[in-house]
Amino acid sequence: MILFAPCPRGLEPPLAAELTGLGAHILEQVPGGISFEAADMPAEESAALRHAWALVYRVNLWSRLASRVLIQLDQAPYRKEKDLYALAFEQPWEAIMHPGQTLRIDTSATRSPLKSLNFANLLIKDAICDRLRQHLGDRPSIDTEQPDVRVFLFLDAFKATLYVDSSGENLFKRGWRQSDDKGEAPIKENLAAGLIALSGWQGAQPFADPFCGSGTIAIEAAQQALDIAPGLQRDFGFQRLGDFDEALWQQERETALARASAGRLRAPIQASDIDPGMIALARANAQRAGLPREAITWSVCAAEQARPLASAAGNGGFIISNPPYGERMGPSFDPVALGNNLRQAWAGWQAWIITSDRDLPGQIRLRESRKIPLFNGTLECRLFCFQMKALPTPGAVAKT
Ligand code: SAH
Repeated sequence: MILFAPCPRGLEPPLAAELTGLGAHILEQVPGGISFEAADMPAEESAALRHAWALVYRVNLWSRLASRVLIQLDQAPYRKEKDLYALAFEQPWEAIMHPGQTLRIDTSATRSPLKSLNFANLLIKDAICDRLRQHLGDRPSIDTEQPDVRVFLFLDAFKATLYVDSSGENLFKRGWRQSDDKGEAPIKENLAAGLIALSGWQGAQPFADPFCGSGTIAIEAAQQALDIAPGLQRDFGFQRLGDFDEALWQQERETALARASAGRLRAPIQASDIDPGMIALARANAQRAGLPREAITWSVCAAEQARPLASAAGNGGFIISNPPYGERMGPSFDPVALGNNLRQAWAGWQAWIITSDRDLPGQIRLRESRKIPLFNGTLECRLFCFQMKALPTPGAVAKT
């Protein structure tokens, strides 16, 4: 079983590492995703199938970086539209879904010679409907909002690849954010996890987000530190596919629940925002995300005045943050005061800041030690790392 996990651009290397840790063997890294299969496949056929499905369930449950997990059905060269119909018609849809279920098809392409991707979409739909009518006597209906089954077609210049989705809603939706959330432009959960992965923070040092908004980055950090699977609060597309193995899924879930109750914080996590409404929302989000109340220390505070917790004093730590930028409405910050506060109050820390503002280092008067290009949705951003110099310790001063 060949799988493909799309992810936000720039997160491919940490996603490959994450997948490997979950039991994947990486096949290829392409811009925007990773193709992989289960490592250590057993030789016997039914054991191999179980082993592959267990990986699908586990990656959906545990990946903090992937946007979804797609199962490759087939790949073939194509030239004309009718080749796409043939490719889709050959797949055993009757084993994948039943006509009472709803369907959505997405087509995307790079350098495809076809004139209309809409038409390609329509042909795939026709092929699936025709096949199901032939085998099961009826056809599914289309639902683009809440489909039971999602099918993805990828076209390049020469070949077509057909996937059935195993995730359902995009994996950045962890199930704890409420849809009427007024959090202004929250960062996507998998991008937040991506900032953490790129920074190298793994829970052993103190963590702070002084522009925390609805709390996304701190919640991702706390879940990671506490070994809580990000998908424990939601369901997945694979639960609606024909060959769903409930017992195997429960096994993966039980393992995740056991790990979550064994997790312990090794260093404090703090998050603050100037807007009290945001802190109230962030607290509620953290609770819905399954975090114990004491996991994150929240406070209402301007970033220009924020201080590390007393329990974080000593050897520095990681700030990972998404300050307001661009055309964003609402409160903003004084860059010079922020830079001064970082240098003085946060000496010895490293600050990882994502922004679309290329001039941020100049404005806060700090020179970056790293600069990583990333996309926040369609907005081109940079993740800057600023390394704050440690202050000389009083002991060292006394000796001179
Ligand atoms: N990553 C957050 C979104 C951050 S948006 C999320 O996922 O929800 C930027 C946040 O910075 C907003 O919540 C805003 O209230 C806050 N903010 C703006 N100016 C600030 C300042 N000077 N000090 C602290 N917070 C500030």
